[in-house]
Amino acid sequence: MTHRIDMAAYRRIVILTGAGVSAASGLDTFRGHGGLWRQFDAEACATATALRTDPLRVWRLISFMRRGAKTAKPNPAHQAIVALENKLRATQSLTVVTQNIDGLHQRAGSHGVIELHGRLSHTRCANPRCSLKPFEDWELYETQTPRCEKCGAVLRPDVVLFEELLPPDAYRACDDAVRACDLFLAVGTSCTVHPACDFVFTAKDHGATAILVNLEPPENAVDVFDEIHLGPAEELLPALLG
Ligand code: NAD
Repeated sequence: MTHRIDMAAYRRIVILTGAGVSAASGLDTFRGHGGLWRQFDAEACATATALRTDPLRVWRLISFMRRGAKTAKPNPAHQAIVALENKLRATQSLTVVTQNIDGLHQRAGSHGVIELHGRLSHTRCANPRCSLKPFEDWELYETQTPRCEKCGAVLRPDVVLFEELLPPDAYRACDDAVRACDLFLAVGTSCTVHPACDFVFTAKDHGATAILVNLEPPENAVDVFDEIHLGPAEELLPALLG
C-alpha cells in the first residue's frame, strides 16, 4: 500500500514533472511504453538542426502535440499538486518545475509554474534580432512553414529543442529552488533529459529528501532517490500527497 508523504514535515518543496504526469490526460510521453518516439523520429523532428534544415518537420511534430494539448484536461496528478498548494501552511512553499510544454499544470490551477522547456501554446520568430514578441498560437502547420510578418524569417514554436539551452531565467529560478528545497519530488519523468535530470543530485547535495513517482525505474539515478514509487502518477500522487 502507498503510504502518505508527511508533507507537513517539509518547508520548501520542489515538484519536478515530466511527460508521464500528462499521460492520463491522453498526451503521449516521448520515452517509455507507447511513447511518441514510435510515431516520430524525435531526434530528427525536435532538434535545432531540424529547425534549420527542415522546419516543417519540426512543425509537424509540434502540430501533432498541439492537437492533443489544446483540448486536454488536467488529470488527478495535476489536481493533487494544486490541492497540495492550496493546503500549504504560511511557513511552507511549493515550486512546480515542469519539463512539459502542454500547460496542464496552469490549466489545473497551479501558480508560478517554471516551464523549463517552453510552451506549445506560443509561436515566435526564429530570428533572434526580430522585434516580434512570442504570441499565443494553436494553429497547426502541417503543409507549410509559417513566416514572420515583420522580418520574413521562419516562425518557430516557443519550445526548447534538443541542442538548445534552457531559458536562462527559468533555469536560474529552478536551480535556486532546488538548492533551497528540503523535499524534491520528481514525477513522471524518465530522468534522462539534461539538465533537468541533474536537479535531483543538486537537491541531494543540499540535504533534501528525494522521492520519485514514475511508471518505470529510472535508467540512471536509481541510487540517489530516498524513495521510488512505481506506478501511474494519476493514482499514486493523490494517495502520496494525501
Ligand atoms: P519522457 O517521455 O522521457 O519520460 C516520461 C516517463 O514517464 C517515462 O519514464 C514513463 O515511464 C513515465 N510515465 C508514463 N506514463 C506515466 C504515468 N501515467 N505515470 C507516471 N509515469 C509515467 O519524458 P520526460 O522525462 O518528461 O522528458 C522528455 C521531454 O519530452 C520533455 O522535455 C518534454 O519537453 C517533452 N514532452 C512533453 C510532453 C508534454 O508536454 N505533455 C509530452 C511528450 C514529451
